[in-house]
Amino acid sequence: MRKRQPNHRLVKIHRSYTVEEAANLFGIHKNTVRTWVKAGLATTDDQRPMLILGRELAGFLRRRRTRRKRPCKPGEIYCVRCRAPKIPEGDIAEYQPDNETVGNLSAICPDCNAMINRRVSLAKIDQVRGKMEICFRRDGDT
Ligand SMILES: [Zn+2]
Repeated sequence: MRKRQPNHRLVKIHRSYTVEEAANLFGIHKNTVRTWVKAGLATTDDQRPMLILGRELAGFLRRRRTRRKRPCKPGEIYCVRCRAPKIPEGDIAEYQPDNETVGNLSAICPDCNAMINRRVSLAKIDQVRGKMEICFRRDGDT
């Protein structure tokens, strides 16, 4: 299951938040907010308790969100479990068509061994391929 992303639109950019207030705002654990701080979310250094400026918080979440939407490069398939684009195990993927134009590439994540999938249209498959060796499954062929 995919967890819902904290909605940056909930943040009021003209106020500041303690770690606890930020956690309450999104209904998440304080430790999640602390990991954001470690990941580069700016805070006020000279005050206790530490405060997060709303403007910084909204910007941080928005940047994170667009980074996650970054498309895979050629030869990569996104692993939902690792939350990152991966080069499939053995550089091998299998193409299974849904219809004549669109299908699904499936492969194995080299890091967690989960199945990874990428929707692809047949017309663009050469742009997606990279170094992958793609097997074409031909169900229903006689
Ligand atoms: Zn993985």
